[in-house]
Amino acid sequence: PTDVQRAKAPRVIAVANQKGGVGKTTTAINLGTALAAIKQKVAIIDLDPQGNASTGLGVPPAKRTLTSYDVLVGGDSLKSAMAPTVVPGLSIVPSDELLSGAELELADDQRRSYRLKRAIDQSMQALGPDAAGLDYILIDCPPSLNVLTVNSLTAADSILVPLQCEFFALEGLSQLLKTVERVRGHLNSRLDIQGVVLTMFDSRNNLSAEVAADVREHFGDKVYKTVIPRNVRVSEAPSVGKPVLLYDLHCSGSQAYISLAKEIVQQERKRHREAQGEVA
Ligand code: ADP
Ligand code: MG
Repeated sequence: PTDVQRAKAPRVIAVANQKGGVGKTTTAINLGTALAAIKQKVAIIDLDPQGNASTGLGVPPAKRTLTSYDVLVGGDSLKSAMAPTVVPGLSIVPSDELLSGAELELADDQRRSYRLKRAIDQSMQALGPDAAGLDYILIDCPPSLNVLTVNSLTAADSILVPLQCEFFALEGLSQLLKTVERVRGHLNSRLDIQGVVLTMFDSRNNLSAEVAADVREHFGDKVYKTVIPRNVRVSEAPSVGKPVLLYDLHCSGSQAYISLAKEIVQQERKRHREAQGEVA
């Protein structure tokens, strides 16, 4: 692709952490919504067989005609599988439990790690340099380092790591970073670390603050200034099929995700400026 095409291509960000319950899906849903709220065009790819991102964005099982399983295993196009969500400007490739069979079904495919990348590349080619006007593709990864997560890291420009402020957070992170290194070495040399976002932060809990300080010491400016607080509104919203921003815009969780979206847009502007400087 030319530089112009590359500049217009969406930023593909894998939201990943092999630990379950750290806020990956919540971050994909609400960061996606917050980015759309500040005029970015966003698509989420739900790569977790549990389909929580799909449900949480108002796409119940009955409305999932084509899914990420069809894209990954069946070879359907990304575009054909994209469904609208309750959020204007945000679409989703939903998932369902069939996806949990992907590991076995792809076992004989030598190039199984590249299937999502191929689908994204093909849809960009089919759509031309504007790539359907998408600014971001967020991939909601399952809680493991399986073929689905590897596909996601192979297809992505970068990884965004939600980290829950609890005792073993850093240990899990070093395992994840080893996987990133391995993917860089074998499958996707340009995989970048977009950043680490601290989630479910509890300001009344000393441990939360200690873990946050530790993570900032290790990862410096890779850690977003925005911290996502533990907020009951965030956990209630999926039960009504809405992101928290549509459920209660003024709660602390919604405001934090808006602030995170702004940080990411600024980060991308800076990256573009630097890339243009290198070309000039
Ligand atoms: P993962 O996708 O990493 O498994 P989830 O995003 O599903 O994690 O979050 C795990 C649980 O924690 C969910 O029940 C979710 O509603 C809840 N949760 C996530 N973020 C917050 C938050 N900021 N405040 C309160 N509850 C949260
Ligand atoms: Mg999840």
